[in-house]
Amino acid sequence: MKFRSVKNESPPVAFREALFRGIAPDGGLYVPETIPALPQPLLNRIGEHTLQSAGELILSGFIDDIPAGDLRSIVDRTLNFPIPLVNLQDGLFLLELFHGPTLSFKDVGARFMANACSHFLSAESRELTVLVATSGDTGSAVAHGFHDIPRITVYILYPSGRISPLQERHMTTLGGNIRAVEVKGTFDDCQLLVKQTLADPDVRAARALTTANSMNVGRLLPQIIYHVWGVAQLLRDTHLAGSHPSVVVPSGNLGNLTAAAYAKRMGAPIGRLLAATNENDIVPQYLKTGVFSPRTPKQTPSTAMDVGNPSNLARLQSLYRDDPDRLRQEIEAISISDEDTLREIRSTHKDTGHLLDPHTAVGVAAARHLMRRDGSSSPIIIAATAHPGKFPETVGGAIGATIPLPTTLAVSQARTRRSTPIFPAYNEWKKLLLGGTASA
Ligand SMILES: *Cc1c(COP(=O)(O)O)cnc(C)c1O
Repeated sequence: MKFRSVKNESPPVAFREALFRGIAPDGGLYVPETIPALPQPLLNRIGEHTLQSAGELILSGFIDDIPAGDLRSIVDRTLNFPIPLVNLQDGLFLLELFHGPTLSFKDVGARFMANACSHFLSAESRELTVLVATSGDTGSAVAHGFHDIPRITVYILYPSGRISPLQERHMTTLGGNIRAVEVKGTFDDCQLLVKQTLADPDVRAARALTTANSMNVGRLLPQIIYHVWGVAQLLRDTHLAGSHPSVVVPSGNLGNLTAAAYAKRMGAPIGRLLAATNENDIVPQYLKTGVFSPRTPKQTPSTAMDVGNPSNLARLQSLYRDDPDRLRQEIEAISISDEDTLREIRSTHKDTGHLLDPHTAVGVAAARHLMRRDGSSSPIIIAATAHPGKFPETVGGAIGATIPLPTTLAVSQARTRRSTPIFPAYNEWKKLLLGGTASA
């Protein structure tokens, strides 16, 4: 299987090259040339599979330049935590993606990408620089996924003052091969710096570079696994066999939603796909009007979804042949207000005892909207993207109680913080990167 650029102006490449390039030379995102069908035995006999064995089967349809045994061990090391489907209320199910080391779904993509890079680099004895722009959760997942992996240095660019203190600690305290850069601007400034770097021939000549953003196919592909796993669990464990559950994905850069769209295209019995956004409603507006107007995002309680120019939209457009009408037939989008997000955290806690993080709350509110609107009780799976304990201020504020810090996060509280502040000016950043100075 080859990967082509959505812009179609550079040659298709093998998985290894798509992984190491991050984005294609023409500036486009890589997408699989075709979407393979799920092996039927996987769906019919899901009960005979583990998350890992299902994962290996799914990925082997896309990745043919890693030997089967090695792919299996990469998947095993990546998915060494459970991804349970939990019944929230009648018809509403949470696919809990947050049981990895940094308690967000991004652990899946980051760990797979780190293990896949490590697989290729160990055979080639090469060095690699990994760049990542983050609005919070990506940085911690990538930092932990890549920490202490030999031959790799990671630069994490995050917007100053716009991520939670807990998230900041999580990515600035590991040290070693992980360098944190505090950009005095927005997430989109960070993302632009990464894109500019990847397109800069000077830097490319000096460093082997890639990005660990959701632009990288190495993060995107493993996320398909749990969307298939989620519907498979639902159909296996409930009386709902034969139904096509809808899938709601709390969305920012649309990477997770794109993975769900791939799962559906592969043949997973998924009904509707719904992108739930916060007040940054660029995607709902685009689907409504057909006009894409990226803009500076505003800050909301679901900070990891404060994105004004969602990078994976290009992949979705490509999947639906750049036809907004086809896209609309399969994907809906709903924007949830800050007020409704906090109200959802409060009412779900009151009614079910369940704590939702602010991102998942956007998804649950959107799912309820869908149910009310359609007057239907057909099942809906909501991707639960983060652990509520990651956002103690917002969740605690909403329910009027103190949220205990999960133990995995408490550890980084004690360590020293290290990061280098810069203005969002490309030259300043380039000097820092090429100077290679360790963070101060
Ligand atoms: C990153 C993130 C999202 C958004 O995911 P995308 O793939 O960028 O759409 C949602 N929730 C949480 C908790 C996140 O960290």
